[in-house]
Amino acid sequence: MTIKSQTDKVFGVVNHACHKIGRSPESVSVIAVTKYVDHKVASQLVEAGVRHIGENRVDQFLEKYEALKANDNELTWHLIGSLQRRKVKDVINLVDYFHALDSIKLAQEIQKRAQHKIKCFLQVNISGETTKHGFSIEELEDALPELEQCDHIEIVGLMTMAPFGANETTLVNIFRQTKLLQETLRDRRIKNMPMTELSMGMSSDYQLAIQEGATFVRVGTAFFN
Ligand SMILES: *Cc1c(COP(=O)(O)O)cnc(C)c1O
Repeated sequence: MTIKSQTDKVFGVVNHACHKIGRSPESVSVIAVTKYVDHKVASQLVEAGVRHIGENRVDQFLEKYEALKANDNELTWHLIGSLQRRKVKDVINLVDYFHALDSIKLAQEIQKRAQHKIKCFLQVNISGETTKHGFSIEELEDALPELEQCDHIEIVGLMTMAPFGANETTLVNIFRQTKLLQETLRDRRIKNMPMTELSMGMSSDYQLAIQEGATFVRVGTAFFN
């Protein structure tokens, strides 16, 4: 299949999932995760209509950004993977959305290096898997006062990664808990936390995530296989 037809297929799935539950497809941003491909393939995605690019590693992010940014300022750039503190300065001011804010120390480094307000998702570890990054619900509660001090960070929402291979019941459970937490935090009206967005859903579960309220889905494999 060509990149164009794969892209049409992914957007078709998104439209279908939205219509099924009466959501507008415009309420979901589809991030094409380009970590599996080079910038030439990434630019074919852009030609096919992709407007959000996501990378999980800093070096790959910078490579794609350099190659594509020059001829397209319509694109929105997402860094979706965990970020080492020493790399914050190399990348954070180029990123439109950072999806993996998972510690207070990282927030403080972003605060220090930011040249404008940086839109971030707090990564939450709802499943409790020890291998996963992210704040547990309890840790998050403790972290809020510190995060509130970081006025160069705008916390737009929550991001979660479901366990690999989880069944539908588990996935729905995780997505629902994440949404509940997002709404609870949003309703507290903390100054730098509009908390209106939900970044959840990958190739194997983005339909389900959309049905459970995702506003950003991070889709890689489905564009390329
Ligand atoms: C790779 C990656 C994705 C996309 O995964 P696919 O299963 O290929 O769709 C989403 N989020 C993060 C953080 C990733 O690293």
